[in-house]
Amino acid sequence: MKIKSQTAMILNMDKCIGCHTCSIPCKNVWTNRKGAEYMWFNNVECKPGIGYPKKWENQEIHRGGWHLKRGKLELKAGGRLHKGLNIFHNPDLPAIDEYYEPWSYDYERLISSPRRRHQPSIRPRSQLTGDHIKLRWGPNWEDDLAGLSETGSGDINFRRLEVSLFLQFRNVFMFYLPRLCEHCLNPACVASCPSGALYKRDEDGIVLVDQERCRGWRYCVSGCPYKKVYFNWKTGRAEKCIFCYPRTEAGLTTLCAHTCVGRIRYVGVFLYDADRIAAAASMISAAEVYPAHLDVLLDPNDGEVRKAAAADGISDNVMEAAVRSPVYRLAKLWRLALPLHPEYRTLPMVWYIPPLSPIRSHADQNRENDLIDRLRIPVTYLANLLTAGDEQPVRLALKRLSAVRQYMRTVRLDNKADTALMEEVGLTDDDAEQIYRLLALARYDERFVLPTATREHTGVYTDQGRCGFAESTG
Ligand code: SF4
Ligand code: SF4
Repeated sequence: MKIKSQTAMILNMDKCIGCHTCSIPCKNVWTNRKGAEYMWFNNVECKPGIGYPKKWENQEIHRGGWHLKRGKLELKAGGRLHKGLNIFHNPDLPAIDEYYEPWSYDYERLISSPRRRHQPSIRPRSQLTGDHIKLRWGPNWEDDLAGLSETGSGDINFRRLEVSLFLQFRNVFMFYLPRLCEHCLNPACVASCPSGALYKRDEDGIVLVDQERCRGWRYCVSGCPYKKVYFNWKTGRAEKCIFCYPRTEAGLTTLCAHTCVGRIRYVGVFLYDADRIAAAASMISAAEVYPAHLDVLLDPNDGEVRKAAAADGISDNVMEAAVRSPVYRLAKLWRLALPLHPEYRTLPMVWYIPPLSPIRSHADQNRENDLIDRLRIPVTYLANLLTAGDEQPVRLALKRLSAVRQYMRTVRLDNKADTALMEEVGLTDDDAEQIYRLLALARYDERFVLPTATREHTGVYTDQGRCGFAESTG
């Protein structure tokens, strides 16, 4: 057992209102520069939809992440030989049009236009060429399902969905998916880099690009299945979400989490066993990766784990933060949060609580006895998004969320606790109160539990530049 700590985030999709407030401070602070105009380290997508860049989830097109080849874990885009042969032309790189051509407007025209009968109008101008452009695509082009009649069928999460539901999905459901780098335990971006410029920090698992070592080969861009590394055309180097490490080192949460209007984000520490990562990422069936990923995450209250963590140099304040961690309780203890596309085998560390939704009016009460089957957002769709198609973990999370709502209603309205409701979903009354508090009322210091960086970290870690585990495969 080799214990490490990881700063991670959980997002409650049930509460995201798609306001994009999270993206704005991130943009203003980290990518408000020449060459970075098209980059959104944090973006909010509308589901169903094909997202940003277009169809990023379809790895048959983008060839990001890992797959099993003859039982061995390999980068989907191929190893060193493939990169060597294609070093001056990476065939898997998304083109700028798949992100969008960034634009601004001639605001000056509004201010200095001479007096005339009609109000002055302004035209969009490309931030790359300076020319006027016709807008055809943007980072949230599909917002609130706009344009989905053209793009909706490209959403791969419709796999195995009933045809009738697929045909009328625009009338039936939608929700928002805020996205950022997953700071994966088995990051494909790190393994893809021929220059060794990407690395996962030992002290908190944040994945960074060393700007001095980056040579602009862009294999990290195509290797990341979440398409969360970007190429800066001005500096010729790769850039990505840094999980606001100057803030987290000071015990503050990330900008996206701090500013989130819906208070949907939770940031905290996981303790994990680095020796189990390779096995978890190599599970034969993609659906087995999520349960194996859960096994990698350790209980910070377990005496043996604490002893081993101390021996591995985990400091007391990190341990204390892991014990109070909201992310551990939501992901592992209560199984309410699930990873995004575990089938990419990168073991992502930004997880999601699936959204509940209204009951469908045309639901067949006789056939669909299970409440979860009558929700507007189909379980199959959520399972394709969060658990590689395995519906059981999604059902459990939705049932638990729904049971907590009903339980709290009985407590508030009938003045009695309906313990049976919680027993049915394998939780206690105390769990229900804690879940309700965390999801509905939690203050800043309950949602964000981060240790400050300690002096003893300096110089202790010598193997930066690797994946979350000790060997670099690629
Ligand atoms: S592979 Fe994982 S860690 Fe690397 S950029 Fe993509 S999401 Fe982030
Ligand atoms: S600020 Fe919060 S609620 Fe608004 S879009 Fe971002 S994640 Fe969703």
